[in-house]
Amino acid sequence: MIYFYPGPSKLYPEVRQYLTDAYDSGILSMNHRSAEFVELSKSTIYLLKEKLQIPQDYTIFFVSSATESWEIVAQSLITKGSLHIFNGAFGQKWHEYTLKTHQEANAITFGENEIFNTNLLPNPLLSDIICFTHNETSNGTQILPNTFATTAQKFPDKLIALDATSSLGGINIDWQYIDLAMASVQKCFGLPAGLGLMICSPKAITKALLIGERKRYNSLVFLYENMKNWQTNYTPNVLNIYLLKRVLENRPPIAQTHQLLQERANQWYDFLEKNGFDLLIKNSFVRSDTVIATQRKG
Ligand SMILES: *Cc1c(COP(=O)(O)O)cnc(C)c1O
Repeated sequence: MIYFYPGPSKLYPEVRQYLTDAYDSGILSMNHRSAEFVELSKSTIYLLKEKLQIPQDYTIFFVSSATESWEIVAQSLITKGSLHIFNGAFGQKWHEYTLKTHQEANAITFGENEIFNTNLLPNPLLSDIICFTHNETSNGTQILPNTFATTAQKFPDKLIALDATSSLGGINIDWQYIDLAMASVQKCFGLPAGLGLMICSPKAITKALLIGERKRYNSLVFLYENMKNWQTNYTPNVLNIYLLKRVLENRPPIAQTHQLLQERANQWYDFLEKNGFDLLIKNSFVRSDTVIATQRKG
């Protein structure tokens, strides 16, 4: 079955069996300070790093949603301000949320058929962090990988953050240019909603510790202190972490998944154009590999 909206996605069929396995394993009755949970958490994080080619020195956190991650970034990683680059509704929402916490949350918008030009970034830049919506789910566009490389070279002292909700697990990310990525599992991971992932570079962690914000239950410093022991600061979605682990075990390396998705997306774009549909995005360079936006002609 094809779902004509971008998420939650259809669950992987294997999930049915994994749900029963989770029940039978007893993990769902274990508390989140137990050795069993720690083992699950640790092995899931190792698998994420292995399958998604995330550097070993990055820290991965289990949170509730991508939306919560926006909040965590605003609370724990921004002092001077943020710069949000977007062309659609999710990027705008992230900007608006951050604006509630920081007056200096600035935005640069660009057209949905445009390749974002890094010459538009103000230099010098006051903001601590540059925020990109990697894959804009609302219009089916994605940011080209060299954008991150150019931005990182231009602003080596800033953090580069990605909302990767509809790309993580589907698109191969070049982590050397990325300090933060946030996602939920109900898109490219094909899992039920209710678990978010936040991935931080050592640079992002250093900055969070330097700022030392500890006013909230989900302050990044608390998350970090707990994750040193593979734990979370509140009772997490153990079922979903278990399902994530099982799904990851059977996944090929990300480069392979990405290639498959690219081929499949191109076939879809081709098919739709030839069968009475208009593609929302006319510029084929910025079309998403994971979310296809189309409408019936006329
Ligand atoms: C779905 C989506 C979100 C929101 O995810 P939640 O799990 O509801 O917080 C944020 N950003 C993008 C790009 C999305 O596609």
